[in-house]
Amino acid sequence: MQTLFLDGLKRGYARIAMAMAHGPAALREAHQLERLLEIGRNLSSNLDLPSLLGSIVAVAAEITGSEGASILLYDPTTRLLRFEAIPPDQDPALKKLSVPVDSSVAGWVFSAATPLIINDARSDARIYREVDRQIRFETRSILGVPLIVKQEPIGVLEAVNKLADQDYTEPDQIALETLAAQAAIAIENARLLAKLHEANQELMRLDRMKSDFIAIASHELRTPLGLILGHATFLTELVDEQHRDQIEVIVRSAERLKAIVEDMARISHQEEGQSRVRHRPFSLGVLVQTLVTRFRQLAKEKKIELDFDVPEGESLMVEADRDKIEIALTNLIRNAIAFTDEGGQVGVMAEGSEDYVKVFVADSGIGIPAGDIDRVFQRFFQVESHLTRKHGGMGLGLSIAKAMVEMHHGQIWCESKVGVGSLFCIMLPVTAAKGEAASKVFSSV
Ligand code: ADP
Repeated sequence: MQTLFLDGLKRGYARIAMAMAHGPAALREAHQLERLLEIGRNLSSNLDLPSLLGSIVAVAAEITGSEGASILLYDPTTRLLRFEAIPPDQDPALKKLSVPVDSSVAGWVFSAATPLIINDARSDARIYREVDRQIRFETRSILGVPLIVKQEPIGVLEAVNKLADQDYTEPDQIALETLAAQAAIAIENARLLAKLHEANQELMRLDRMKSDFIAIASHELRTPLGLILGHATFLTELVDEQHRDQIEVIVRSAERLKAIVEDMARISHQEEGQSRVRHRPFSLGVLVQTLVTRFRQLAKEKKIELDFDVPEGESLMVEADRDKIEIALTNLIRNAIAFTDEGGQVGVMAEGSEDYVKVFVADSGIGIPAGDIDRVFQRFFQVESHLTRKHGGMGLGLSIAKAMVEMHHGQIWCESKVGVGSLFCIMLPVTAAKGEAASKVFSSV
């Protein structure tokens, strides 16, 4: 398309050189060329379709010395060519009209994807008279050129009634074709931008719906779930030995549901900016030991070796929100056990430096495909489809862990190899002040 535009300009220059001897004609062509270059620059920067089309038709009428000009775009639903733009001084009724592809000049230009000049339109059968009748106009001469995008015609640019009863000439056709080539690119760009905008709006709408659903569901489920759990726990004490197992199943299932609802509530609070970080000093070393102890039973049931490694004599003190860091680490350890098969190993290591502490959760599990590693931190993302997956979960654990760590101006990342295992790492500033200082440095880079 760009080549068509340049070709048009080159042909224009060649004709001007040849016509220099003919005085006024050459001057007019030079003016046409100058206007084309000028409009070319403006068109590529204008992405508002109506104003873009408006300026194209105005220039089309000007450079061809015509009474009017218009753009007709093909509408695949009606299979008609619809007037999309006309100069401001033309009858606005025209904008409501369409012309048939099989019995109009525009239709011929569109179907053949070829320019057409008719200098005696009054006696030409190809003219679609209905338009003239509707707007009380008389088409005396007409020049039409196709608008082509990716080798496909999308519409037609027409100039009507050459002024001073003159005939349309080949230079007029070249000038209009050159303008049409540039206009087609601009129209396509504006259409793509409009589509992108529409898709973005739709995504935002869906995202809002998802957020609203999470907020409402977590809020509404909380109370009945609390009641089920409370009553079931109470009943555990009352029922005889024979029915205790059943009640315990209810309690365990309700606890699992509670964990899911809490995850949803955390996501919702974090999205609404309601999550507050309460910095207090605590020992990360002790937290790691506590969590590993908590998961020992689960690991044992799955015949997984679970160990931790915290440097001796170092408490790894940090000033952070212990509850939030506990949630993040719990999610990492739970995943490590969930995605490791029987006989595998899971290890939690911690180390500290002057400014940061790091915790690594490593497993010899199924691993994560390279293309999915960055996506596992996205909400609801799961490597396996939820229809085929063997593991439970909602795909929220890692996004929560990430949110908790980032609230502390820390970082979380993952390295993994399918069939070998995964390593998740959390890096936290030792104090709130250090975290804030580091985040200022990062945001200024
Ligand atoms: P889920 O509740 O599904 O575990 P997460 O957000 O915690 O949600 O994890 C997202 C996905 O990342 C998991 O469904 C799993 O596919 C993958 N994943 C997370 N941790 C591991 C791990 N240690 N090993 C292998 N895959 C993992």
